[in-house]
Amino acid sequence: MRTGYDLELVHLTKRYGDTVAVRDLNHVFSPGSYVCFLGPSGCGKSSTLRMIAGHEEISEGSILLDGQDVSRLPPAQRGTAMMFQNYALFPHLSVRDNVAFSLRMKGVDKDTRHKRANELLDLVDMTHLADRLPAQLSGGQQQRVALARALVTEPKVLLLDEPLSALDPFLRIRMRSELKKLQRELGITFIHVTHGQDEALALADEIVVMNNAVIEQAGPAREVWAQPDTEFVARFIGGHNVIALPGGKATIRSDAVTIAPEGLPATVIAVEYQGASVAVSTRTETGDDVLALLPEEQFFAAPNTPGESVRLAWDERRLHHLRA
Ligand code: ADP
Repeated sequence: MRTGYDLELVHLTKRYGDTVAVRDLNHVFSPGSYVCFLGPSGCGKSSTLRMIAGHEEISEGSILLDGQDVSRLPPAQRGTAMMFQNYALFPHLSVRDNVAFSLRMKGVDKDTRHKRANELLDLVDMTHLADRLPAQLSGGQQQRVALARALVTEPKVLLLDEPLSALDPFLRIRMRSELKKLQRELGITFIHVTHGQDEALALADEIVVMNNAVIEQAGPAREVWAQPDTEFVARFIGGHNVIALPGGKATIRSDAVTIAPEGLPATVIAVEYQGASVAVSTRTETGDDVLALLPEEQFFAAPNTPGESVRLAWDERRLHHLRA
């Protein structure tokens, strides 16, 4: 059995009047991977996702799925399915009928579509609530129904637009591990749009960072985090300091910065206890903000206080040079 299908974006562009929302994207997604599109609000993530789904017309370029150009096909014929942020469940239909809805549109007979809907409800652990209406469900339960409804068409690619943003923080973390598990079980590509770097790091095999309508960097999650190409990626993905060196800019991980007898002079701006570590914010004489994330035992052996002059040190080999 094959796992996953090729999805490719070729010179994909979206304009709304004079606004270029997506500019000439070229990207091949690894089949069967969990992909997160990450970037600030307005960078073009949703427009890209909606073009892949067929809910937004393409201005230029094309989308290939499993070798076929699907750019001009209606959403239901593309082999993709979309799960929306607000779930968009039909309020007057039961959970089971919501899940079976697209099969009904396709003319599938009642027994077959109920059987299939029941299988999907089983997959997302919602069988016991199949006869309820959406209003009688919690946010997390509604999300499971929306997932089952998107998956009932057996898509080759599942598209998720900020799927966790309507949930409270506790549920968000639980649902994200459920999404990841589901993707692994199904073996199809999930493309998940988020503006949360922690969400992207937790879920993604591949992270595609967008900024100003273009892909700023794409790669395995760990590579994007540890080796950001640009200052934008380094700052957006977090966990790094960006510092100016004579030859250009470089990053140093916050957990690689220590407070030492010798080193770069700086002043402590703030101290924040975080449990396992203590975040010591400093400012250097050249005006760079540098965060040192110190193990709590190390910090409390010689605590620092705001206003204090300190020296910052790191192993030069941990510096990562950024593209200009
Ligand atoms: P993101 O999902 O990253 O927040 P979007 O793809 O929604 O970004 O938007 C990208 C850009 O396109 C933004 O400047 C936004 O204002 C603009 N845009 C999005 N949808 C429309 C629309 N229907 N009409 C006009 N401009 C739009």
